[in-house]
Amino acid sequence: MTDDAHRGLRESLGAYALDLLGPHERLAIDAHLAGCADCRTVLAELRPAADALASADPDRLGDPVPQPPPGLAEAILERVRAERRRSWRRWARPAAAAAVAVAAGFGVGWWAHPAPPDVPLEPVAVLAADPAVRASADLVPHTWGVEVRLSGSGFAAGRVYRVFVTDSAGARVAAGEFIGTGRSPMVCTLNSSVPRAEADGFEVVDGEGGRVLWSDF
Ligand SMILES: [Zn+2]
Repeated sequence: MTDDAHRGLRESLGAYALDLLGPHERLAIDAHLAGCADCRTVLAELRPAADALASADPDRLGDPVPQPPPGLAEAILERVRAERRRSWRRWARPAAAAAVAVAAGFGVGWWAHPAPPDVPLEPVAVLAADPAVRASADLVPHTWGVEVRLSGSGFAAGRVYRVFVTDSAGARVAAGEFIGTGRSPMVCTLNSSVPRAEADGFEVVDGEGGRVLWSDF
């Protein structure tokens, strides 16, 4: 898995710990956690903060001056202290970022209660070279680059597929990898460093570099 794909997954771990993900995203993270000890470690590190949030008193959500749940600040500070102690570890920086994301998500959710912030999805048309592949895609314009949310089935089970976003200069920029699930439906999020305004399309290629699926925005 590429760093970009991994970063995307890591960013969802906070929401995963708080049980805020939909069933498809949850399944995708479950599948990844089964094979990634690093992400399991990050998730374990996030649990104290997530548990503190889960124990927040819902009656206080309507208070004019919201108060964080007891123990939250301590839990996050403890995460930061632990991160400093282990700053030589490869995963320490993403773990700290994820802990901050939990805190930030808490803040947003608190002020905008009860609905979570909407994610602006932009549907794009896709073409598949193989009629067995059925897929749809949406784009999410993040500040760090465009995310491709790919839903579909028919990608050969167990095969690794790579995803590239094409920028306006024609360069192919890696956006991550996924493993085909055969006839079982899958949803995966693929993150690139190409801003939405500079992204012209994306493509999915198989292990031999053959184009399996593509989209021109
Ligand atoms: Zn991982």
